[in-house]
Order: sequence, then C-alpha cells, then structure tokens
Amino acid sequence: SYHLADRLSNLKPSPTLKLASRAREMKANGIDVRDFTGGEPDFDTPEPIKDAAIAALKSGFTKYTAVGGIPELKSAIIEKFERDQGIVYKPSEIVVSSGAKHSLFQIFQALVNPGDHVLLPTPAWVSYPDQILLNGGVVIGVPCLPSDGFRLRPQALLEAITPRSRVLVLNSPNNPSGAIIPKEDLLRIAEIVKKHNLIVISDEIYEKIVFDGQETSSIASLVPEIRDRTVIVNGVSKTYAMTGWRIGYAAGPAPIIEAVETIQSQTASNPTSIAQKAAVVAIRSGEIYFKPMLAEYTRRRAMLLESLNAIDGIRMSPPDGAFYAFPDVSGLLGKRFGDMEIRTVTDLSEFFLAEARVALVPGSAFGSDHHMRMSFATSPENLEEGVRRLKEACALLT
Ligand code: PLP
Repeated sequence: SYHLADRLSNLKPSPTLKLASRAREMKANGIDVRDFTGGEPDFDTPEPIKDAAIAALKSGFTKYTAVGGIPELKSAIIEKFERDQGIVYKPSEIVVSSGAKHSLFQIFQALVNPGDHVLLPTPAWVSYPDQILLNGGVVIGVPCLPSDGFRLRPQALLEAITPRSRVLVLNSPNNPSGAIIPKEDLLRIAEIVKKHNLIVISDEIYEKIVFDGQETSSIASLVPEIRDRTVIVNGVSKTYAMTGWRIGYAAGPAPIIEAVETIQSQTASNPTSIAQKAAVVAIRSGEIYFKPMLAEYTRRRAMLLESLNAIDGIRMSPPDGAFYAFPDVSGLLGKRFGDMEIRTVTDLSEFFLAEARVALVPGSAFGSDHHMRMSFATSPENLEEGVRRLKEACALLT
C-alpha cells in the first residue's frame, strides 16, 4: 500500500460533492435521479461575461498574470467594496484566488498554527472543518440553534471562546441555514472579537442572495478597529452563476493578504487569466445580471415553503438568504421502511436516494442531526418533481 501523509488521516472528501457524484453515477446508469445536493446556480453565466473571456482568449491574454490578480480586477473589487459595503481597500489589501474555497484555504494556512483553536458557528459549510484540520487547527463549534433561526448569538460565542482561540469564522448569509447575523449582533460580536484578540474570516459569498428585503452587513464595515481584524472572502460563483470559472477573492489587512499571496505564489501562481477578465465584467455589472436570478430564487423559495411544509414530518422555516432549504426532518426519524429503521438523517438521505431517487444532503454533514439540505438553485420543474417524490416516499414510512 502507499504511504500517505498523516495529515490525511482526519480528512474526508467533501460530503456534498461525494453525494453529487453518487447521483451522477446513478444517472449514468440510466436511473432518473433528482439531485439537490449542489450549491450551484442552474443559470448559465451571462453572455457579456462570457464574451469578456472570449475576447481575452482571442487577444492572447493567455499567460501568467500577477500572483494576486490583475490590477483591473483588483480595481473592480475595490470599487465593489466601496459601492456595496462602504469599505475602502487598497490593492495591497486584495488577493484574487481560484475560487473562494481556495481563498479560504490559504487564509487558514496563513493564520492557523498547529493547535490553534478556530471558532466555527455550527451548522457550517462542509469545507471549513476539513480546511482547518488540514492546517493543524482545532475546530471549536459554536452552536447556533434552530430556535434562534440558526443565528449566531453573541453569548454563545462568548461561552465557546478558549484561551487558544485565534480565529472566528463568520458566514452570513449562512450555508446551510440561510441565517443572516443582524447588525446589532454583529456589533456585539465585534466587541468580543476585540476583547479576545481574534481575527475574523467573514465568508460573504451569499451576500447578494437575500430575501424579503433583508439586509446583510459585513462586520468589517461596522467599526473601524474591526476592519483591521477581518478578512472578507467573496467570489463570483454564486452571484453570477460562475462556479466553473474559479474566481474568489479576499480583502483584509495587508500583512495577512501578503502572506496569502506568498502562499499562492508557491502553489497556484495565479488564478486563470481569462477567468479574471470575465470576473471584471461580472463584478462591475452591479445588479443587472443577478437581479433576475434573485427574483427566480425568491419564487422557488416560496414554492418550497409551501410544498415541503405540506409533507408530514418535514418542517421548513424560510431562509433569510442563500439558496438552500434546511428543513427539520426529525418528524421522520424513528420511522420504519419495511425492515429498515430510519434512525439518523444519514439513514433518511440513503432512503430518499434509494426509494425516491432524490439526493439531499443530511444535516449531519454540516453539524445538525435533525435537518436536511435541499438546494433550490435548480429548475422549478426539478423542484416540483423532487418534492412530489419526497412526499410519496415519506408516505411509505410507518
Ligand atoms: N463558502 C461557502 C459558504 C460556500 O457555500 C461555497 C460554495 O459552496 C464557497 C465558499 C466556495 O465558493 P467558490 O466556488 O468560490 O470556491
């Protein structure tokens, strides 16, 4: 057998990507599976964004670029932060990477020493714990309760802090719960961050996907001292339906950004040249491309609220943001399908895949044993059929 490094012993493949690949395999075998695992907009990348990449390609913009991103893209990002969030950054405070996931990994590399504690409000996106572990960090979960709409309560943060806590991860709107941290709570969290000398990684990738006129604020924009303790992460994947282009970015204090750039210079060199040109057009576009997508997500959210809540044993609360339903399915746990007992959300997800041919992610992947995640970044037809199948399957449980 091959000798693999010890750091792999605790690492697991992304559960969402793994489930998606199982669904793809079933499809390849001729089984009609409806897949709701992905956090990937079903929309195509808007044409003018694609055109920018084509033009870049044709003009020979096909070489290495500056490590941290081309100046034009950094300018577009700086304009965006100022326009949308009122935060002023210099080019030395911005680094562009190959997706927000890549940005995050490099930030953990730059900030986490072996044994350092990283505070992670939970439920949380699947990649944070593994990225932290891969960098020798220890994950300290901060429970966010369904009864609080999964919002991070400042008091819960305070109770979770340890002497070795160095970093706090915020993700608002949250994947999987959709929770948005209200401004007044962010202000209290900022006080705690200052008092305990923490650095905040604020993952704002779902910033634009918010419902019912809700507002999101970045902790970095609230109090001046906190700006210099925060690294904001964002990207074009979700807002502009550009998951395959792999462009994400980070903004924060120059020493941290420089460290990230050094890591990037030794690992990736630079994000793809033509994708950077496309990202310039996306980020400069304001609301024209994403507004119609948001309107569509809003319709789908309403549709799921009605149809999922019509299934016995499933209770969905309206998410504030992002494009996931995260219903409570505890009403189905403990039921039986023939000889099989559905004890956990993992059992339930297996049951749904086998009997309903519907792929949902068990909440346990995010740290929640009573919920399932269903992405609504997929067509209404798919959603309708998926819910119909779920309802039928649930009726088989006794
Ligand atoms: N952060 C969160 C919370 C996400 O849900 C995702 C994608 O699923 C990412 C980051 C990564 O996005 P990107 O495609 O830019 O790597």
